[in-house]
Amino acid sequence: MKDIFFTTVMALFAISSLQAQTDRPSPHFDIKPLAPGVWAAINNDHYGHAICNAGIVDLGREVLIFDPFMNIDAATDLKAVAKKLTSKEVKYVINSHYHNDHIRGNQLFKPGATIISTYQTRVDQNINEPKERAAEMKIADKVLTSLQEQYKSMKNPEESELPLWIADFEGIKSSAPLLRLVVPDGTFNEEMWIYGNDRDVKIVEYRDGHTTSDCMLFLPKEGIVFGGDLLFVERHPSFSDGKPDEWYKHLEALEQNPDYAVYVPGHGPVGGKNEIAELKNYIRDLQKIVREGIDKGLSDEAIVQYPVPERYKSWKLSRFYAENLKFLASIMHKK
Ligand SMILES: [Zn+2]
Repeated sequence: MKDIFFTTVMALFAISSLQAQTDRPSPHFDIKPLAPGVWAAINNDHYGHAICNAGIVDLGREVLIFDPFMNIDAATDLKAVAKKLTSKEVKYVINSHYHNDHIRGNQLFKPGATIISTYQTRVDQNINEPKERAAEMKIADKVLTSLQEQYKSMKNPEESELPLWIADFEGIKSSAPLLRLVVPDGTFNEEMWIYGNDRDVKIVEYRDGHTTSDCMLFLPKEGIVFGGDLLFVERHPSFSDGKPDEWYKHLEALEQNPDYAVYVPGHGPVGGKNEIAELKNYIRDLQKIVREGIDKGLSDEAIVQYPVPERYKSWKLSRFYAENLKFLASIMHKK
C-alpha cells in the first residue's frame, strides 16, 4: 500500500513537473504536445507577445519551426523551448504567409536555420514589412495609451479581449529597436517536401485564401496540419487581404481530406474538422448578411453595424468582424 502511495505521488509529481516545464514555459505562449516530437505553441491571449501560434516539429536529426511569432522576446523563448524539448538545433523555419505576426521571429534563427516560404510570401514580405513598420511607429504610442485607458475604465476588464490588443502594441514597441528584415532564403511554388530522419513533412501553397499566398504544413504520419491563418479557431478571421470564396474552397478540401484530424490554427486553440466547418459557416453567414443588406439598399456604413451573430459572440479578435463586413460589402457591391 505504502509503495503504491509512494509510486502514485511520484508519478503525479513527475506529471506536474513535466507540465510545469511544457505547458507554460514562457509568459507568451503555452505548449501543447500533439504527438511524440510534435508540439503546438499557442499564443497566450492574456498579454502574450507571440501574437500568432507556432509549431515545433522534431524531424529526427534537426527541428522545424512553423511561424516563428511576431516579437523578439516570444521568439527567443520559442527557440529556447524547442531546444529544451528536443535537444536539437532548428534547421528550418517556415513562414506561412507575409503578415508581421508570423515572420518577425525569423532573425532569431539566423544563422543556422534556412527560412522557407512560398515565392509570393517572400515578395510580399520585402514590399510590406518596411512600410508596415514605419506606419506602426507613427501610431504605436498613441494606440497603446488609448487601449490601456480603455482597459482601466472598463467595468469587467477580465472579460475583455483588450489584453490581447495591448500585448500587440506592447510587443511592437519593445521589438522595434531590435528588428531586422530577415526574409526567406528559400522559396517554393505549389508544394514541397522536407525529408527528415524520423518524419517527412509536406508544405502546400494555397492561393488567394487569407492572403495572395499562404501555406500549410502537413504531417502525414500523424494526421496533423499546421494551418497558419487559413485556420482560425474561436477567433474572427481577417478577410481583407484575401478572397473569402477561394478561402472557403480551400477549407472544404481540407475538411474532406480523411487523412488529417488535428488542425493547429494561426490564432486560437487546436481544433478538428468541426472547427473547419465553423469557419466555413462564418464565411457564408457574413456573405449572407452583406448580400441581404445590399438587396435592401443599405449603405456600407449601415451594413457594418449588423450585430455579431450569436454563435460568434464569444469569438476573440472581434474587431475583424466589422472589417470583414466592410470588405465583403466593397467586393459584393461590384457584383
Ligand atoms: Zn495573417
